[in-house]
This record gives sequence, C-alpha cells and structure tokens, in this order.
Amino acid sequence: MPTEICTSCANFSKQETETLSKVKDLLPEGYQHLICKFCVTSGSNDQFEATVRINLFSKEDVLKWKNSFQESSKVTLRIKRTYPAQSTKVIYKVMYRCQHSTQPRSSTADAREGSKNTDCPATTFLTLYQTNICDPDGYKRKSRSSDGHRADYPAVVQIKHCHNHDIIAASAVKHRDVSETAKLRLEQLMLQGYAPSAALEMYKNDLQLEHGDDYVYICADRAVCPDQAYVYRLYYKLEKEKVDGDAEDECILDKEEAADIDNTSHDEYITDKKQINDSSSLLADLQDFVKLCEQKLAADPAAFGPSLKAFMQNFRKIKTDTHLIRAFHTFGKYTGVGLTTGKRKIISNKRIGIQPTSLQRRQRAVPGLKRQGACRQK
Ligand SMILES: [Zn+2]
Ligand SMILES: [Zn+2]
Repeated sequence: MPTEICTSCANFSKQETETLSKVKDLLPEGYQHLICKFCVTSGSNDQFEATVRINLFSKEDVLKWKNSFQESSKVTLRIKRTYPAQSTKVIYKVMYRCQHSTQPRSSTADAREGSKNTDCPATTFLTLYQTNICDPDGYKRKSRSSDGHRADYPAVVQIKHCHNHDIIAASAVKHRDVSETAKLRLEQLMLQGYAPSAALEMYKNDLQLEHGDDYVYICADRAVCPDQAYVYRLYYKLEKEKVDGDAEDECILDKEEAADIDNTSHDEYITDKKQINDSSSLLADLQDFVKLCEQKLAADPAAFGPSLKAFMQNFRKIKTDTHLIRAFHTFGKYTGVGLTTGKRKIISNKRIGIQPTSLQRRQRAVPGLKRQGACRQK
C-alpha cells in the first residue's frame, strides 16, 4: 500500500517536496497513508511537522499502527494527555510525547547519571474520527464534516518531529522498549530450564550467530538485546504466573468432586507452552556431538582420552531420569574446580542417626560441669 501526497490540501514548496522522503521513511509499511501537510520547522531538514491521514477505522487498528510507527521511526512514544473516549465525533484521541521528555520526574532525576531526559519537545497527536454520527434520537447518519478525507481516512496523526537528541544512536536506542520477539525468545529459554542470566547469555550467543559482525550494533538496541534487570523481572513474572496457575488448578480441582484427574490436557498445555524443539533436529544435534567427540579423541588422544573416560564414568553413575535431566541442563556450566581454602566443610551430606537411648541435652551450661557426657545416660 503506497504513501501518497494529498493533491487537494497540500501545497508544498519545491524544497519541502525534496525532503518529504524523510516522512515516508518514518511511516510504517503496510498502511495507506495520505500526507496532507508538511513543513520543515528548522534549518536542519531533520525537524519537521506533518499531518498524515491513515485509512484505519477502529481503535485497535490505530494502536497497532502506533506500535508499527514506533518500530519504523525508532521513537518510543509515551502518553502525554488523554481525552474523553467515545464522543459523538471522536472515537479515540491521545497525545504522545517522546520518552526523552520524562514525566513525572523528581527534582534530582536529571542529575542522575544515565538519565534519558532531554526535555524533548516532540509530540505525536493521534485522532480517530467517527465516520457515522449517532444522533440523540438514535438515528445513524453519515458525518457532515467539511473535511473531505473523513470518510476514507478517519485516522489523523499530527507529527511534530523536533527531537533535541539523537534518535539512531547508542545513547538513545539503549532506552527503547524490549520487543515482543525478544521477550518471547527469552521466555522460551527460561521455560526450557535456563536461569535468567544463562538465558540472556544463550540469547546473545544466538544473536551473534544470526548477525555476525553486525552484532556490535544490534546489541546496543534494547528492543533486540534487553538488559539483565529486565530478564530477571520477566523471570519473576513467569514464576508468579506459574504459581498463580498452579493455585488456580488446585482451586478447580477442589471444586470438582470427581476423583479422576485427567492429566492429558495439562500435559498438552505444558508441551505447547514449553515448545520443545523438534525431536528430529535434536537427534541430528546429538549425532553431531558424538562425531565431534570422535574427532577430538582421534586428534589428541592423550588429552581427550582420560577426560572422556571420566565423563563416561560420571554418566554411568546417574541412575534416575531426574538426575540425567539436571545433568543435561547444567552440563558445561561448572568449572569443576573445588575450593582450595583448606577449611572444613560446614555442611556435610553425612547424616548421623539419633541414638535409641539418647537423652535431650541440657539447654543451659551448668557451672563446674566439665564432662559433656555426664548428662547422658550411661
Ligand atoms: Zn488532504
Ligand atoms: Zn525525542
């Protein structure tokens, strides 16, 4: 769908028409836009004001457009002002500000290192007009607005693109919201059993493989590569959902008096949620792993022989499925180097059973009592 320039209300100067491509670059693809107003507001061509109409008819579509606009323009919008919903002429109206104009903020917020506030004056006004007006007597009629575009393009966006900061720079993109794709991929890794930091490392490794040399630029963008604090928050949210879900299940089971519990649907739910990798690709990976071990052993038997032998011995010691699963999850995560402090271990796995004839020890030390065994039964 093309982005067109309105011929009826636009009277752009020649210079403006040349820089009009900047607006087109900002607008998301896949929508029909009509540029009705455009003017350069400062000497630099990067700052302009524009009025663009979009052929969208519902609030949901308009909000989707706003998300796509954030992606295409790399500008993160926050709500500055809202207006009463569902009036006779307007379905939805909202004013957005750039996230580099933080509100509300404390008096010391700007002094903080890493503060993103630049008092950015850029705003975006989004209005969705009614195309059919409902009269007080209940009669539905077509809008009699003098605006000739209202019927075909009821959504209007007024962009004041006058940012006082860089938009595509590491200092700006590090503040962007995390994208849904990145969030989903991290969720999948954590549901597979990865700890938050390990999931982030694994995700970063995947990004490096995907983007190669471009990774250094990609990793600066928070939308693609989130920070560790975000991953931990996501992890706690998932855990909370899991606990709440379990509590809900128990509740349902309590209500159901029937004793039979059908686990089939629950198992299906878990399988669906965890999105376990296709088994065929896993088998191929396993075969690659065995091949790699064979190659390493053939190349350097002195180094890899004893270590592989130890690996196999440890593997044979594992007797239960639970231990095996845990071993797979933690394989390669530990260095295997023990503490060399020489201090005695405080906690031991060895358990000492209670003697059948033992008596409770005295709670308070008795003055003059030297022998500990004196209070015990002979
Ligand atoms: Zn127009
Ligand atoms: Zn801004």
